[in-house]
Amino acid sequence: MSPTTDQVFPPSPEFVAQANANESLYEHADADRLEFWAEQARRLDWETPFSQVLDWSDAPFARWFYDGKLNVAVNCVDRHVAAGKGDRVAIHWVGEPGDSRDITYNELKDEVSRAANYLDSIGLQAGDRVAIYMPMVPEAVIAMLACARLGLTHSVVFAGFSSAALRSRVDDAQAKVVITTDGQFRRGKPAPLKTAVDEALGTGDDAAPSVEKVIVVRRTNHDPDLPWVAGRDVWWEDTVGEASPHHEPEAFDAEHPLFVLYTSGTTGSPKGIVHTSGGYLTQAAYSFHTVFDHKEGRDVFWCGADIGWVTGHSYLVYGPLANGATEVIYEGTPNSPDEHRHFQIIEKYGVTTYYIAPTLIRTFMKWGREIPDAHDLSSLRLLGTVGEPINPEAWRWYNTVIGGGRCPIVDTWWQTETGAHMLAPLPGVTACKPGSAMGPIPGISAKVVDDNGNPVPAGEQGFLVLDKPWPGMLRGIWGDPERYKDTYWSRFAEQGWYFAGDGARYDEDGALWVLGRVDDVMNVSGHRISTSEVESALVAHPSVAEAAVIGAADETTGQGIVAFVILMESGDTSRDDLITELRNHVATDISPIAKPREINIVPELPKTRSGKIMRRLLKDIAEGRELGDTSTLVDPSVFESIRSQRA
Ligand code: ATP
Ligand code: MG
Repeated sequence: MSPTTDQVFPPSPEFVAQANANESLYEHADADRLEFWAEQARRLDWETPFSQVLDWSDAPFARWFYDGKLNVAVNCVDRHVAAGKGDRVAIHWVGEPGDSRDITYNELKDEVSRAANYLDSIGLQAGDRVAIYMPMVPEAVIAMLACARLGLTHSVVFAGFSSAALRSRVDDAQAKVVITTDGQFRRGKPAPLKTAVDEALGTGDDAAPSVEKVIVVRRTNHDPDLPWVAGRDVWWEDTVGEASPHHEPEAFDAEHPLFVLYTSGTTGSPKGIVHTSGGYLTQAAYSFHTVFDHKEGRDVFWCGADIGWVTGHSYLVYGPLANGATEVIYEGTPNSPDEHRHFQIIEKYGVTTYYIAPTLIRTFMKWGREIPDAHDLSSLRLLGTVGEPINPEAWRWYNTVIGGGRCPIVDTWWQTETGAHMLAPLPGVTACKPGSAMGPIPGISAKVVDDNGNPVPAGEQGFLVLDKPWPGMLRGIWGDPERYKDTYWSRFAEQGWYFAGDGARYDEDGALWVLGRVDDVMNVSGHRISTSEVESALVAHPSVAEAAVIGAADETTGQGIVAFVILMESGDTSRDDLITELRNHVATDISPIAKPREINIVPELPKTRSGKIMRRLLKDIAEGRELGDTSTLVDPSVFESIRSQRA
């Protein structure tokens, strides 16, 4: 292990003194796991209380709290109003062009009720699916909650996806309604969105058979001649806007499907992950309270994810709102109109808790610390990361430059499939190591095992498995129970464990390190080396802003390490010297075996829309193959520039 990863950051005594969590939470959860989860579920309001916690008799199909009934939207909205907190701001919304809106819980209740009344009026029944293809406008959250209120299953499709991606998701879920906007702001300019819906849904023989209505929120107002399909298309303002703000909610079974969400597609074709109501909301609410140390009425939370990803579902909608939180939702990109945007927002709203992806932290590092340094970020008291392993170098920068050295950092490992946080340090309890997700949160059980399911010794790599069911777990893949069993439960079928696809190791101090996907673990002359460790070593070099590493077939060593790096703006060393220096740097930082065979300096890396590096495509390039599925990439043209750099 590299020496830099041994540094430990204990929480400050001030933080410990006020933390929601303490050491005994682990003991408590271990003593009686099911009772622990039952207690967490009682954070919610149940219309019919549950008497059963878990039914695992038909494993791997789980049922949690299954004889209970609740309404998810009531839990996220109405109950706060009923408790006299209606005037509290739920959402500080910031539009990309600079417009903004503060929405209180009272207002949210009215808006969600209007939307529910309209969706009900067009004949939708509990269990029907609704596709939501929208930028980060308040109506997107309102639409999700209106679905939840009626027991409609939403399927949010990221608004950056193509019309083809939308169509395949609409067809797969057989959505009856699509909710969208006329356009969306992208880097200061309005771009059409409704036209992508038209293209996706087609006409005549090619028309999407399930869709009856398209509801359009006016956002950009950029097109006076917006194409309109009579009978199918309606404006939100003329329909939802005219509906009554009073709606009598009904309770649904704990296992009623709340949403379908397609995974981001770093490994293969996206899967429609199904989540249900009671267990999902329990884990989202509990983890938000515990991992983010949420203080109701005081904290201002900001999750930078898009609602198109699971992070946006659990920590921009359900987790915060179930806790009665006040949060920021920002519509645009971090550099519109300039790189100061995020820091201005933190300053303006007094954000206390800031949750973003490592890729954004590396971008901030590349822009330079003068930008955050120009702002008062003293309101921040807790930072979080999600989506990828965070390079220790980026962790330290986040800690010092953004957190002023005083904020605990929660590195949260979880997946679309897990519904909510699984591994994370507990703020005020865990002494953190930069780059490590530390361990399972109370109530969650994970193991690091070898091929046969035996625990691997500290220091060695293995498979990260979840050996006990958890409330927020996926209930299946939409319409495909076999694929569900195959994908997640076949690797360790004998033991009945869920295999998440990721590799990990425990270090000698018991800290858990997620090493990325096992498909990404390289085998060099019989040594297993993780891509993320080599990437972290490269990023730790002052000239490197970002790095992606893959193992390419190699006749002599089995696999050879191939790196793609983006450089920091400055630097006057020659390319060749720098490459030699970087190779040696990795050799000294990790081991001579980890020395990359090849380092390519490139202008960009292929990333998914959620900001993750697509290593499988880089591998295609390094091994000279045709590129695999690129449909979820931000910009497929990056390959031209990468190829030309290699030539
Ligand atoms: P697909 O499953 O379609 O290939 P995906 O796995 O990228 O796409 P997500 O569910 O969005 O889709 O991401 C979950 C994955 O992200 C995890 O399995 C893990 O590889 C990675 N990940 C998320 N958070 C962390 C973290 N804190 N540390 C390390 N890895 C993380
Ligand atoms: Mg995955």
